[in-house]
Amino acid sequence: MAGIESESKQGRRVVVIGGGIAGSLAAKLLQFDADVTLIDPKEYFEITWASLRSMVEPSFAERTVINHKNYFKKGRVVTSPVVDITETDVMTADGDVIGYDYLVIATGHNDLLPKTRQEKLSQYQTEYEKIRSSKSVLIVGGGPSGVELAAEIAVDFPEKKVTLVHKGPRLLEFIGEKAADKAFEWLKSKKVEVILNQSVDFNSASDGNKTYKTSRGETIHADCHFLCVGKPLSSQWLNGTALEDSLDGKGRVMVDEHLRIKGRENVFAIGDITNIPEMKQGYIAEMHANVAVKNIKAMMSGGEKKKKKKMSTYKPGSEMAIVSLGRKESVAQFPFVTVIGCLPGLIKSKDLFVGKTRKTRGLNPKRVQG
Ligand SMILES: Cc1cc2nc3c(=O)[nH]c(=O)nc-3n(C[C@H](O)[C@H](O)[C@H](O)COP(=O)(O)OP(=O)(O)OC[C@H]3O[C@@H](n4cnc5c(N)ncnc54)[C@H](O)[C@@H]3O)c2cc1C
Repeated sequence: MAGIESESKQGRRVVVIGGGIAGSLAAKLLQFDADVTLIDPKEYFEITWASLRSMVEPSFAERTVINHKNYFKKGRVVTSPVVDITETDVMTADGDVIGYDYLVIATGHNDLLPKTRQEKLSQYQTEYEKIRSSKSVLIVGGGPSGVELAAEIAVDFPEKKVTLVHKGPRLLEFIGEKAADKAFEWLKSKKVEVILNQSVDFNSASDGNKTYKTSRGETIHADCHFLCVGKPLSSQWLNGTALEDSLDGKGRVMVDEHLRIKGRENVFAIGDITNIPEMKQGYIAEMHANVAVKNIKAMMSGGEKKKKKKMSTYKPGSEMAIVSLGRKESVAQFPFVTVIGCLPGLIKSKDLFVGKTRKTRGLNPKRVQG
């Protein structure tokens, strides 16, 4: 095992596990105050909710797939999944052993992603070619990814036949029924065929993988298909580690009001991985990152008394969710109202918060650097 030695003083070593929405921001905000190591299986940070646009416009990914080193210039990046944690160290699959004084766990959801930015950009190009050369597309999964992908294809390639199959009774189960119904009607108006309460039996694929049977025996013809099913939380790796008792029954990490893992002084968890009863959204994951960073800075800068006084508390606020429907429209659920069309579309659908997300990481919102 290779030990990674910290060059700076003891007491200021922070290890951030996971370079997604929450972890990338935490690492960026801490880099000049602490000796930070960011550990992620891939070399880049990706603005996750922009990925569906990149499938119909691969050049869009130039701004949304960002090498960690571009926004996190001062710290150290280790490219390997974390497999174990002790009271003092973090271990990666590649055998790195990294000591910490403060730990931030931000491993969100599991996904099998290419390791390099270039490979990820090529993947979008391949997916785009697959869509472009098909007359019909099957999308499996009616959560935000499936709905947004169906909408992107329906808007950019209106001549293609799009079929969306979802095993649940309604689309977008993470938000209210009103929003789901509006999205359903919108997709229908764009000639997307939506099949609910059914799954696709991929073992039944025939005709050169172009004909599929659903669980109720319906036949679907499609030149290509995309699986848009929800990704599991990336918390199984905590089993068998010093933190295995910190998981609840759903595999979420139990945190206190300061976003520290319950019973731990120096270990924080942020983003989708936490057990906070609230909608799992990126803007919320960023709020977690801000609170955890403030608390780590406070703890690093003071004695016990001072530290207690300065600790910030996270309180879930009002929630909103916006599901984009192509380049101009979206369906948005705000605390007291649900709306669909161009007006909510103005908030998200053109740039998909890409400029804003780049800006919070100190990057030019419009231009790709490096
Ligand atoms: C289609 C879609 C649209 C969305 N739209 C919006 C929106 O408009 N606004 C919004 O606010 N939110 C949106 N979201 C939700 C948002 O994407 C998530 O809430 C957000 O990504 C959560 O951030 P996170 O950092 O907790 O986890 P993630 O972004 O999932 O990041 C987890 C990171 O941890 C890494 N990791 C995993 N396991 C390990 C390990 N063992 N060791 C080291 N690293 C590991 C991963 O590689 C990844 O980099 C959308 C989601 C989807 C699917």
